[in-house]
Amino acid sequence: MEKLQNFIDGKYCDPIDDQWLDNYVPSTGERSQQIPASNVKDVERAYKAAKKAFPSWSQTPIETRSSILIKLADLIAADLDKLAKAEALDNGKPLALATKVDIPRASANFRFFGNAITQFASEAHENLASDSINFTLRQPLGVVGCISPWNLPLYLFSWKIAPALAAGNTVVAKPSEITPVTAALLGKYCNEAGLPAGVLNIVHGKGPEAGQAIVAHSGIKAISFTGGTTTGAAIARTAAPMFKKLSLELGGKNPNIIFADCDFEKMLQVSLKSSFANQGQICLCGSRIFVQEEIYEKFKAAFIPAVKALKVGPSLAAGIDLGAVVSKQHMEKILSYTALAESEGKLLCGGQQLQIKEAPNGYYVAPTVIEVGTTRCRLQQEEIFGPVVTIMPFKTEEEALALANDVPYGLSATVWTSNIDRSIRVSKALEAGIVWVNTWLNRDLRTPFGGVKASGVGREGGFEALRFFTEPKNICIQYKTNT
Ligand code: NAD
Repeated sequence: MEKLQNFIDGKYCDPIDDQWLDNYVPSTGERSQQIPASNVKDVERAYKAAKKAFPSWSQTPIETRSSILIKLADLIAADLDKLAKAEALDNGKPLALATKVDIPRASANFRFFGNAITQFASEAHENLASDSINFTLRQPLGVVGCISPWNLPLYLFSWKIAPALAAGNTVVAKPSEITPVTAALLGKYCNEAGLPAGVLNIVHGKGPEAGQAIVAHSGIKAISFTGGTTTGAAIARTAAPMFKKLSLELGGKNPNIIFADCDFEKMLQVSLKSSFANQGQICLCGSRIFVQEEIYEKFKAAFIPAVKALKVGPSLAAGIDLGAVVSKQHMEKILSYTALAESEGKLLCGGQQLQIKEAPNGYYVAPTVIEVGTTRCRLQQEEIFGPVVTIMPFKTEEEALALANDVPYGLSATVWTSNIDRSIRVSKALEAGIVWVNTWLNRDLRTPFGGVKASGVGREGGFEALRFFTEPKNICIQYKTNT
């Protein structure tokens, strides 16, 4: 069976203790490869390589760093078909989605931060009262840790790595052990792009072992983490007392608020996507739908048949809307929530595992809509992270806001209305890091990205990410006013 390897100091290598984990293809349930079950020794090896590479990389001119990252973006884009197929098979998502979104975005991340670093500037403050000038240096932190989840594997892995490298840091990075394949391929592109050995080191393995070893390493200065809220809390418990810089991008339970005055057709099409894209496994999916009562029945009459018509199948099958969910264990978790429909609401469609003839052992869940009468239930309070949405009617703007905010999470929210004043009022009052009005997943990489409440701490994106990956140092110089 094929074995993927760690990528350390510019070379692929086996884990030191020769321990391995199995990787599976969600579409078929078959074992695909083995991946390193790295531990603290492998992380130490990666750290040493990163530490050795830091002095030179941090002093490399910005133009050179930029051009290497842009070359990396080009190489990823040039191998779109191969990477998209690898991503789709490893994650279970439709090939069309990986081809249109995941891999182009991974390439765009490197291109964006390759360009952004050339525009990153710091401030100067002149103080005439004391005849002094302050200027702020933005220095790279050193070796940093990047840990990413399985839902958008290369997309989110590169979203962290690109700004860290652009800012002059060296990196020890761990992809999810559930979707390691495209991250394992990245090392080859790094070498081809001319990234010096040791600047990026990729260590595979389980969170509590390899991940925890990165978080707890005393030489690793910052942790950029995307994943579940419980994991984020565990990471903070280790890293915060070590005074590491921490960026935590965590779970979501996002409201999709639909007012009666919206553009109904556009809302319907986009709501299908915001509910079920990537099998509902996007932290930004609008999994709680609130519909104003005047159009509630009309919405149900249009939405439910459209959900039932969505095609579910293996990643590489033509014409599918949804693929498999990422693992057997995750499928079982999702089904444990759909089983709550009976006690907490009413199942309007889906709710069950799907048997796909050509792939009987794959992990397929039917797109599910559950009607609920309250936000005070597990279906509305807990992140399911699958193709499952709840729907509930509301009367007024005030009620919609109260329902939307009645949740521990605060990542994103979507609002559908043609009333501009309302869109601004509601956006201001929503407890979320990102609000989309009459659109969804409409991303401009320059904007701050992150959540409030249990959805995280810190912001990624644009200069926010470059600020995170640098330490501001103020230098104050007093000058003589007379010669
Ligand atoms: P997870 O928290 O289980 O794992 C994420 C990563 O952390 C993996 O690489 C894992 O190996 C590692 N990890 C696990 N335990 C660790 C530990 N103790 N120390 C260090 N690392 C550890 O999350 P997941 O199941 O892979 O991803 C799904 C979650 O990610 C969902 O909650 C989703 O909302 C969230 N997510 C958030 C965003 C965002 O931008 N806010 C984006 C995508 C996904």
